[in-house]
Amino acid sequence: IVRLEDVHLSFGQTEVLRGIDLTVNRGNAVSIIGPSGSGKSTILRCINALVTPQRGRITVGGTRVDQLATESERIALRKRVGIVFQQYNLFPHLTVLDNIVLAPTRILGVARGEAEKLARELLEKVRLSEKASAYPGQLSGGQQQRVAIARALAMKPELVLFDEVTSALDPETVGEVLWVIRDLIRDGMTSILVTHEMRFAEEISDTVVFTENGRIVDDGSPEEIFHAFDNPRIRQFVGGLA
Ligand code: ATP
Ligand code: MG
Repeated sequence: IVRLEDVHLSFGQTEVLRGIDLTVNRGNAVSIIGPSGSGKSTILRCINALVTPQRGRITVGGTRVDQLATESERIALRKRVGIVFQQYNLFPHLTVLDNIVLAPTRILGVARGEAEKLARELLEKVRLSEKASAYPGQLSGGQQQRVAIARALAMKPELVLFDEVTSALDPETVGEVLWVIRDLIRDGMTSILVTHEMRFAEEISDTVVFTENGRIVDDGSPEEIFHAFDNPRIRQFVGGLA
């Protein structure tokens, strides 16, 4: 469903991606790990057409993302590719339910009643049914992040990108967000996750990709990446996990 081939991207003089090749099959979960500044977020932003590479091809479900010419084409792609960030950015003046209903009604033109029904199903999925009428400011960070996940799912995306979604959370609330993502992946949602949660990546990934200096240094099964350790750099990075 997703393919990157020889993707190169520079911001000014800085070469941030130096030939990324990555394939994600439908229903798979791929985790991207690697040091800060290695290009992990930029890979996700390329897939979602938030930035355009100077070289290479990116295909999402048959669409050449690197060749989208207009903002409306990019918006059309983003309806199909959900993204959840570290900062959940909910609308503070809208209830939880309205935060989830907003995009489907405004952007997809779904009828309010139908969008609300889906939103309530999604709230159940993220275990927040009782918070439908609450405002974001009344929720914990972990709860807000689960609302942000429900909001992304409300667009019925083909694929969801998660960029360090637990990095800003209190340690006690990290688990509840990871459970929700684990359920989604078990239900077959195609997912690409940038994460520092190594145990989680090990548990849920079909493939783990290690990036450094804008390149994919190694990829393989969780077993290969986290335990086989034929690459001393990865051994150093994942350290105590073995
Ligand atoms: P982290 O783990 O800290 O989130 P990352 O692997 O996600 O890091 P990226 O955010 O992809 O890294 O950034 C890769 C490099 O690109 C960094 O050196 C960063 O400073 C640079 N960079 C990212 N976005 C821009 C931008 N809009 N303009 C200029 N440089 C940028
Ligand atoms: Mg990042």
